[in-house]
Amino acid sequence: MSQTTPNEKKMSLSFEIFPPKKDDEFDNVFSLLRDLKKLNPDFISCTYGAGGSRAGKTIEIASFIQKELQIDAIAHITCVGFTKEDLDRNCSALKEAGVNHVLALRGDRPLSMTDEQFNSREFFYAADLVRYLKEHTDLQISGACYPEKHFESPSLESDLQHLKAKVDAGVTSLVTQMFFDNTYFYRFLDKARAMGIEVPIHAGIMPITTAKQLGTTVSLSGSSVPKKLADIIATYGDDKEDMRKAGIDYAISQIRDLKEHGVDGVHIYSMNKLKTTTEICSQL
Ligand code: FAD
Repeated sequence: MSQTTPNEKKMSLSFEIFPPKKDDEFDNVFSLLRDLKKLNPDFISCTYGAGGSRAGKTIEIASFIQKELQIDAIAHITCVGFTKEDLDRNCSALKEAGVNHVLALRGDRPLSMTDEQFNSREFFYAADLVRYLKEHTDLQISGACYPEKHFESPSLESDLQHLKAKVDAGVTSLVTQMFFDNTYFYRFLDKARAMGIEVPIHAGIMPITTAKQLGTTVSLSGSSVPKKLADIIATYGDDKEDMRKAGIDYAISQIRDLKEHGVDGVHIYSMNKLKTTTEICSQL
């Protein structure tokens, strides 16, 4: 009788990309995607500009991934400043574009939003968006989760309770916020499973290739920086190429450890960097 150990389980591989800021950079993204296809990802997700800016661009890219490249595409979609009409329009555009999978997010409060607008928003949380999508569309729905808790949450336990409600509303897989210390992810995973969250959870890995990038990333994500990564920055931060190599090695060691622990999937925040993403994948 054959027995499957955790590290023999197939770990899915996926990438996140973002739409370029300028229209004339679009060709580069399509060419990047063609190259990413060679790495054989299980899916590629495309982010959504905060507050819904350039929403059409996310859909256009997701459509290219799905229809041209025949790779499962996930279009990120937020709801914080949205009315139901806005959402219906977006869902029709997704359908027309042949995109049938979204990452349903609440999104962050745009700076331009007044307290009154924020407090009377139509969709309070991502779970409300999930419920609406489930009722009005046949989209497949993924959601976001936070191994070190979401920054607004008083505790990991409270965040997990809301996450459970989001999954119960119709989320079929989760992608995590980036983390640099796998122990946070394993702790989160154990707690999530103990609470009955059974959907696949894709671990978000962000390769850090410059010292500056780490600063920006940490301030946006709130993720902890373990001593090992801080030491890498201190040692190699001033040397561009050495820092790049050390950052790639760090991401690879995180991914290898996750694979040994039998995780469902690894989602690489590619930052639209082909060379870094390819180097990581070729060494796995
Ligand atoms: P929610 O799941 O709604 O959670 C937000 C907070 O509310 C949490 O603290 C939660 O615990 C709490 N909460 C939930 N329900 C309740 C309730 N009933 N009562 C009280 N509290 C509650 N942003 C973008 O603008 N574009 C993107 O493309 C994008 N992609 C992302 C991809 C991933 C994988 C991740 C992890 C984040 C992404 N974000 C993106 C950022 C995200 O929009 C923010 O983190 C946002 O602040 C929370 O979104 P959410 O969907 O996780 O919110």
